[in-house]
Amino acid sequence: MSVVHHAVFGQPIAHSQSPRIHAAFAKAQGIALDYRAIEASPQDFAAALEAFAADDGVGANVTLPHKEAAFALCATTTSRAQRAGAVNTLLRKGERWHGDNTDGIGLVRDLTGRHGLDLRGRRVLLLGAGGAARGVAPALLDAGILELVVANRSPERADALADAMGEPGRAISAYWDGLREQGDFELIINATSAGRSDGAAFSLPLSLVNSLTTAVDLNYGEAAIPFLAWARAAGCRNSFDGLGMLVEQAAESFQLWHGVRPDTNEV
Ligand code: NDP
Repeated sequence: MSVVHHAVFGQPIAHSQSPRIHAAFAKAQGIALDYRAIEASPQDFAAALEAFAADDGVGANVTLPHKEAAFALCATTTSRAQRAGAVNTLLRKGERWHGDNTDGIGLVRDLTGRHGLDLRGRRVLLLGAGGAARGVAPALLDAGILELVVANRSPERADALADAMGEPGRAISAYWDGLREQGDFELIINATSAGRSDGAAFSLPLSLVNSLTTAVDLNYGEAAIPFLAWARAAGCRNSFDGLGMLVEQAAESFQLWHGVRPDTNEV
């Protein structure tokens, strides 16, 4: 059996679960897979990706902080990657890279399939406006939510994300400091990386929460602790981390590369 070469690029990358997830999918499908974790700084990312291609690399995942750079490097991209302006999945086509973004569909599959949420008609608060937030925003709108309110530490990035959705009535931005005036939400999504760096407590107005609110952190492990602690203290009905999304977005990437959809429940 010939071995197919894949990798995940990021910085830092040591914490990544992607090699384990893809190894488990490949084993279950009987595919011989070499999936590496490659640490690359923003300055080195393009060269590292070319070196990987020269070494027979045919597919890659891209994580923090390279998703927007990966989008810019692709010769072709899917429409969902274009709406996100960010790429998390690369597929080698001839001498060029084709880019997709599976983060959004991964989150929606986890919320609806695993956690049984009906997203239709819901008010959703999205915290953050980086690559992950840009990936999930279009998929949430496509899933039929009523309204998406985006708040970010740097407000101009929240404005840009809301504008990029092209639905001024449904996707709007709000100041983080002005969230108290935004009413309550059935779904609050933390797509910031705040929990990775500060170790500081997460602080948001309690008025955002109602008796049905679900809180989901796209982070997992230690980085998810501050937000999930806030969600529990605020009385959210449900709260969970981003591990399910991670597995679902990986399954979408796996399907793009290998043409088969793996069973995510096993992993
Ligand atoms: P980016 O670096 O592109 O964006 C980071 C975001 O976090 C920005 O909105 C930034 O705000 C905000 N932020 C950073 N520090 C703070 C802080 N101290 N307080 C408030 N906001 C802050 O990262 P990504 O969007 O790619 O990833 C975000 C997180 O989501 C990561 O931790 C990543 O691991 C996780 N993730 C999980 C996935 C999964 O499958 N479960 C998939 C993708 C991402 P500003 O614009 O002001 O700098």
